[in-house]
Amino acid sequence: MQREDLKQEYDIVIVGGGMVGTTLACALAAWGPTSALSVLIVDAQMPAHKSNKAGSNEREKASFDSRSTALSSSSKLILERFGLWPQLSAGVCPIKQIHVSDQGRFGATKLDSADFGVPALGYVVENAAFGAALNSTLAQLAHCAMLAPARVISATPSATGMDIELDSGQADASCDPSRVAAKLLVIAEGGGSSLCDQLGIMRSNEDYGQHALIANVGLSQSHKGVAFERFTNSGPLAMLPLLPVEGEPRASLVWTLGADESEYYAALDDAELLARLQEKFGGRLGRLKRIGSRALYPLSLRVAQEQIRPGLVLLGNVAHTLHPVAGQGMNLSLRDIEALVEALSDIQDEGVGSMATLQRYLAAREADQSLMISVTDGLTKLFSSDAQTKVWLRKAGLLSIDLIPALKKTFGARAMGFD
Ligand SMILES: Cc1cc2nc3c(=O)[nH]c(=O)nc-3n(C[C@H](O)[C@H](O)[C@H](O)COP(=O)(O)OP(=O)(O)OC[C@H]3O[C@@H](n4cnc5c(N)ncnc54)[C@H](O)[C@@H]3O)c2cc1C
Repeated sequence: MQREDLKQEYDIVIVGGGMVGTTLACALAAWGPTSALSVLIVDAQMPAHKSNKAGSNEREKASFDSRSTALSSSSKLILERFGLWPQLSAGVCPIKQIHVSDQGRFGATKLDSADFGVPALGYVVENAAFGAALNSTLAQLAHCAMLAPARVISATPSATGMDIELDSGQADASCDPSRVAAKLLVIAEGGGSSLCDQLGIMRSNEDYGQHALIANVGLSQSHKGVAFERFTNSGPLAMLPLLPVEGEPRASLVWTLGADESEYYAALDDAELLARLQEKFGGRLGRLKRIGSRALYPLSLRVAQEQIRPGLVLLGNVAHTLHPVAGQGMNLSLRDIEALVEALSDIQDEGVGSMATLQRYLAAREADQSLMISVTDGLTKLFSSDAQTKVWLRKAGLLSIDLIPALKKTFGARAMGFD
């Protein structure tokens, strides 16, 4: 939409049209009681499908880039309830088996979908495909508009919610309807939120001193739906199964490395990088034939000290940025989104942005968020270390998961996103 078409007031303004912001908008529209709420999404970047610059990498480092996301089985159910799964299902690769191992050490575990009586333990979707499905759904929504590229530059509490100042980069600011009001402002700005800084919302920040090197890898043999997680001295290395392209089997690499090491690996030529990767990963996927473009993501644990205020809620990476070791960030946010939509469905006499509504949301989510934050942080520290005690703990852990059926069941249920 053009900024001239902006209304003066919306029920909900979402800052950030990444994976979380756009999923929320689609979910609100799909849920009966919230479907009539007027929603505006503001994103700093033009959606990829609308960007007409040939070869533009405008969306690099935003949600819908060359990464892939492992969605748990419980996330699939949530996306079904949001009515989004039919658009996504043709582009996802089912995870039939998860294989976890420790480089150079005895001790590994395998989880098989057949052991749990489910068709898949999870699904891998390329973020670009996820973005295309979300954006095409958004385009058909009657009560939801997207303004992009535009930035929300400030938000001020008002008697009815939030007053929001927008910058759409237009030279003529005088005729700019650059302010809109919202009963509820959802900040889904991603990890580096300027709005949180401006509103004085503190976020803890623990830098892991690691980067994730990501790339798609062409394989000489089928991955057979197996997702590999391999723990190395420098950090975990995951190879997630992707759908083939022109008959070539592919996997999505997420390789956690120390910051300096990651820069070094990212600068290697393809043949050298493939050789190093093959050496670390071994021959489980046959010969690693090709590697696509790489990107580096600095990794840290960031947690907002406040997630709600009257007329304001934080969602996604802005609320909790996790290490990708267990692939939990988006899965956790999908559960947050569903709980928020449920809370907004039941506002009775309270307003959309009332503290009573938002407190109901947060109360429903606090325990799961805390658990996922501590599990992910604990796994990152346990599996990125060469300290002998941690090596023994890993070995004992992997072996016991494999040998004790009840433990394997619990681990498998968690991997699928169920309690
Ligand atoms: C390497 C890696 C692998 C991962 N793998 C998995 C996985 O397998 N499974 C899983 O569940 N999770 C995974 N995650 C986590 C997942 O990617 C995140 O949870 C998810 O991207 C968070 O999305 P978001 O919308 O909150 O933030 P972002 O993706 O950062 O999107 C924020 C959006 O806000 C916009 N924006 C920012 N500031 C403004 C402003 N002021 N005004 C307007 N717009 C603004 C940006 O343009 C952007 O589009 C992974 C993360 C990494 C780094």
